Amino acid sequence: TPLATDGEDTIASLVTGGSRSGAVDIIRVSGSEAVQIAQRVFWPQGRFRFNWQPRSQRIYHGSAIDSSGRMIDEVLLLAMLRPRSYTREDVIELHTHGGGVCAQRVLRACIEAGARPARPGEFTLRAFLNGRMDLSQAENVLQLISARTATAADSALAGLAGGLGQLVSELRGDLLEILAELEARLDFDDDLPPMDVPALVEDITVLQRDIEAALRTSRQGNLLRQGLQVAIVGRPNVGKSSLMNSWTGTNRAIVTDIAGTTRDVLEAGLTVSGVPITLLDTAGIRSSCDTVEQLGVERSTAAAAAADVVVMVVDAAAGWTDDDGEIFDALWGRDGPGSSSCKVRGPALLVVNKSDLAGTKQLQLPLLAKETFQAVVQTSAVTRDGLPDLDAALLKLAGAPQLAAGGVSWSVNERQAEALIRAHEALGAVGESIAADVPLDCWTVDLRAALLVLGEVSGEGVGEEVLDAVFSKFCIGK
Ligand code: GDP
Ligand code: ZN
Repeated sequence: TPLATDGEDTIASLVTGGSRSGAVDIIRVSGSEAVQIAQRVFWPQGRFRFNWQPRSQRIYHGSAIDSSGRMIDEVLLLAMLRPRSYTREDVIELHTHGGGVCAQRVLRACIEAGARPARPGEFTLRAFLNGRMDLSQAENVLQLISARTATAADSALAGLAGGLGQLVSELRGDLLEILAELEARLDFDDDLPPMDVPALVEDITVLQRDIEAALRTSRQGNLLRQGLQVAIVGRPNVGKSSLMNSWTGTNRAIVTDIAGTTRDVLEAGLTVSGVPITLLDTAGIRSSCDTVEQLGVERSTAAAAAADVVVMVVDAAAGWTDDDGEIFDALWGRDGPGSSSCKVRGPALLVVNKSDLAGTKQLQLPLLAKETFQAVVQTSAVTRDGLPDLDAALLKLAGAPQLAAGGVSWSVNERQAEALIRAHEALGAVGESIAADVPLDCWTVDLRAALLVLGEVSGEGVGEEVLDAVFSKFCIGK
């Protein structure tokens, strides 16, 4: 069934986790029959059941009852009548005892009383369809729920407050003005002064710059949403596991003095300036006859190949050794990044670890390695020296140096970025038409195209396909 067409039904869903451990669960009911359904499933304490009318923004205490009138839970009922609700429809929430069973029975009672189970994101879809928020804000609701770090949540909140929607509506306003000027001249070109073409070109350039600025937030947004996979590679005993331990502050990796103990790929998570980072500690990559270790080596190579960033660790006291060179060749090939023998796709960073042992000895890197590593950082897993440099270098390599400085606001997601890119292209086409001196009415075609795609960002005039794609990513109950 298409999502957007049946705002008529009343929907119901569990909106809390429904876990065994929670103290309270919440069932939300939204739609034109929410009040009748509440009257069927709820008996307010100390009142007559049959003429009870919930008032908006009020909480009632009483019993939840099933279709046979049997009490199934003691609940709180919260009424939010239209338009003072999340969906702008009549919304009833029933706060049940936690643990899952009570909530399931109350939900079933609501459905027997006439509601239908809500689809993923359907409450937010209704909030969008009823004008409570634009599409970019609705998408930030999802980002907020799925945020893995406080910074990601802050960014989603900024988006929810309407940052991008505001920008887009300003851009569209400007475009409409330009269009009106052009069309006035198409209609009555004798009465008006001639078009100030240089000013028009300037206006369009300014609009393009605003779009570019919005697009620049996309990398940051991706990082906050998806995080980074970082593979730590290097020969045995350079301190990969120790580094991972001090970097994450956990002790999940096994650290020993015997070369080759980290046989499998170990994972640990940490957060750097709000970016969720998964560290993969790989086995020392080197040719080995031991089959168990060999397996680990293959996994390491695969992990490095799949990682967003590869961190190669060498021992500061030993400098760059032949073994390091072998690992380098195994991962980046003899011809380095971009060549067919290169297995690593992401940027690479060199960590010179055990700096506490080495003093200030200069590391002699082969030329190809020098070109491959985009940053070189000195660390000590023991004293924790250099770890902040490692954080900053990693973020810079990943393309979000501003996160290190703490500058986070809303960001555009892939869908929004795609529309913004098309708007930018359409504006570029206007610029070209002007430069090529084609007739005025051709300019307006591309201006209109830009106006339309900008509308897609905020959800104006988008079809069901787009809405389906956006809201199917939500969980049920949101
Ligand atoms: P891996 O095989 O690369 O994972 O290396 P480990 O983390 O197992 O470390 C090998 C040895 O080097 C252990 O004895 C660590 O205590 C020691 N080690 C690791 N990092 C440092 C460091 O920064 N400074 C010093 N002095 N020793 C280190
Ligand atoms: Zn290790």
